[in-house]
Amino acid sequence: MSETSSPLSILNSVFGFREFRGLQREAIDHVLAGGDGLVLMPTGGGKSLCYQIPSILRPGTGIIVSPLIALMQDQVQGLRQMGVRAACLNSSLSWEEARHIEEALPQGGLDILYVAPERLLQSRFQDLLSRTRIGLFAIDEAHCVSQWGHDFRPEYTQLTVLKEQFPGVPRLALTATADTPTRADIIRNLNLESARTFATGFDRPNIRYTVVPKQNAHSQLQRFIRDNHLGESGIVYRLSRKKVEQTAQWLQDQGIPALPYHAGIPSHLRAANQDRFMNEEGIVMVATIAFGMGVDKPNIRFVAHLEPPKSMEAYYQETGRAGRDGLPADAWLTYGFGDVTLLRTMIKNSEAEERQKRVEWMKLDALLGFLEISTCRRQALLRYFGDDPGPECNNCDTCLHPVQTWDGTIAAQKALSNIFRTGARFGVGHLTDVLTGSETPTVLRWHHNHVSTFGIGTELNKKGWTSVYRQLSAMGALNVDVDSYGALKLNHKSWAIMKGQEKCMLRHDPAPISRSKTKRSSRSSTMPATEEGRTLWEALRSARLKTAEAQGVPPYAIFSDRTLLELVEFRPETLEQLPAIHGIGARKQEQYGPMIMTVLQSHTENYGRPDTIQELPDSLPATPPPSEPKELSDTAALSLGLFRKKGSVALVAEARGLKESTIYTHLEQAVELGLVDGFEVTGLPMEDLKKIETVLADFEAKAIFALKPIFEALQEKYSYAALRCVRAERKKRNR
Ligand code: ADP
Ligand code: ZN
Repeated sequence: MSETSSPLSILNSVFGFREFRGLQREAIDHVLAGGDGLVLMPTGGGKSLCYQIPSILRPGTGIIVSPLIALMQDQVQGLRQMGVRAACLNSSLSWEEARHIEEALPQGGLDILYVAPERLLQSRFQDLLSRTRIGLFAIDEAHCVSQWGHDFRPEYTQLTVLKEQFPGVPRLALTATADTPTRADIIRNLNLESARTFATGFDRPNIRYTVVPKQNAHSQLQRFIRDNHLGESGIVYRLSRKKVEQTAQWLQDQGIPALPYHAGIPSHLRAANQDRFMNEEGIVMVATIAFGMGVDKPNIRFVAHLEPPKSMEAYYQETGRAGRDGLPADAWLTYGFGDVTLLRTMIKNSEAEERQKRVEWMKLDALLGFLEISTCRRQALLRYFGDDPGPECNNCDTCLHPVQTWDGTIAAQKALSNIFRTGARFGVGHLTDVLTGSETPTVLRWHHNHVSTFGIGTELNKKGWTSVYRQLSAMGALNVDVDSYGALKLNHKSWAIMKGQEKCMLRHDPAPISRSKTKRSSRSSTMPATEEGRTLWEALRSARLKTAEAQGVPPYAIFSDRTLLELVEFRPETLEQLPAIHGIGARKQEQYGPMIMTVLQSHTENYGRPDTIQELPDSLPATPPPSEPKELSDTAALSLGLFRKKGSVALVAEARGLKESTIYTHLEQAVELGLVDGFEVTGLPMEDLKKIETVLADFEAKAIFALKPIFEALQEKYSYAALRCVRAERKKRNR
């Protein structure tokens, strides 16, 4: 495996990424220095790098505790593609495979090992660990330690043993769930009181939130997919198994590849559907909330809800499955009056205790309020979770198509007194007939053409009144009696409105947005903009799929969509240019470079090279030598000056009040610039230097640039800093 030895160079050469995101760099440095940490980042925030890079860099193996087999396997496949020595130990392995891993572990044959918590706690495995050099422990999905959440895993609470049994090993807990009680539980139950917290907000900026009033859910869904996501992967959530089946069938009939998923489907079929969703391109999964745990497919382009979920928490979690890869994604929801009734019925009829029901009721109300707002949805979402909402997002329906509000007090009074006049025994359909003055058979049968509210609402049509009732219900200004077929009832708040004690602002439901308006003019698309570009994109996608199938891994383990998009955008012309592309590190350049170049070249032969192609982004080359500093930073110059006077790194560190490792980094730069002798910096005797040089040369000959194997080959006798200085000096002398 080819890697160099700083976090940034690993990021460039192994992962093929250009720069760190958010707090990744801080978290990595902290763990590298041996500290414990708690990483709170949203889904797609890039948590895994925070333990993967330190695992690669620290001597010994990084042990990652992870609750889900599917997730582990995905991670391991991805890492191996990059040339990282990664494995997982779980119940899905054969005895042989497990033994193989158990042998490699104590011999230092692995950079990263994923294990399930129950396995980690077995005495047999503990014994194995006691014979292994451990670089760090990472506890992924750390919220599983908390009883607050719904993913509670009892084994997680026993992970405190890690601190007791491996006191010197840094521990990193990671989660995307970060409400205060859960966070407190994680810290307490994992003994992380002295850990540093690395928290970024909850925002998922690439997800566009949209809520539309329901007219005909199926055709609205079809239009949404057709206009925005044809050929792309997505999830459609439905409330019941029956509806899942219906929608899946309906989409199939429209020629959209859709599969159903719910707990009533036999488990082998369910697994097969999930497999297809993960491994094929462009499948729409229609599912109940049974689908989701462990689904970390990065290029899910949309999550659609045809009924609202039960709470803001559920909404955030379910929509959060879209756009893990950071590319634009949609969270699209449609709902109508009937859904409110249905959800309330479900709470009412559930077996839960009264107190629990009240909590659920409140959570549903919060969600309904969110669906009806006329201001930025992202701000509302973030505010709900106690995050700083920031400025208006410009990437939600209410920002993009501002909602008009109107003083609906009089309309609300009409709508509510209509309930009163008709005896509070009817549902929305009938009530709107009365208001608009339709003489339907039901109206006539009950003589409702004679009540005082008959025909008083001609300023709105039936749809308009349905919207008024929906909004009144969402704001708690009327009750839905689920025992009498959804009859609307008045409550305290209704009377306050009818008496004129409360005003009532309502929103105009937006008209359906036409296709030309929704076209992604304001955001970078996840598909190339031109026909010619899309042809290349398809060619790259099918080459990727073929490669993935041959290896039995999902396509995204080979390359992310972003990699393919950048290939279309930048059209590298030589193998050497490939590392400038996102996601192409040294290993993938070597492994798949020729395949990519073939696709690119044959495309150019057929279609030419458009003159709009952008220049390649700057990047550090995937293979050493790393780019060289042009001049010494001020602080490095200061260290160099002191070193010349004092002659030892330790003395400089003491004088400056800095760590020795920091001084080493400064002097390393100076060595590369030829300002000081690298051998001298190490302070090592000549024979040691010769020994190090020999080993370095050996590994270089094998094209291994990682320092870890070199460090290990030298029995870990010399620090990484010393090795780097010797290497820098060698390079300089060989120039
Ligand atoms: P999380 O575990 O927090 O949900 P991941 O670690 O799976 O997120 O990362 C989400 C996506 O972002 C992945 O596709 C990953 O490869 C990518 N990614 C992570 N860090 C970076 C980075 N620094 N630069 C570019 N892409 C990144
Ligand atoms: Zn917004």
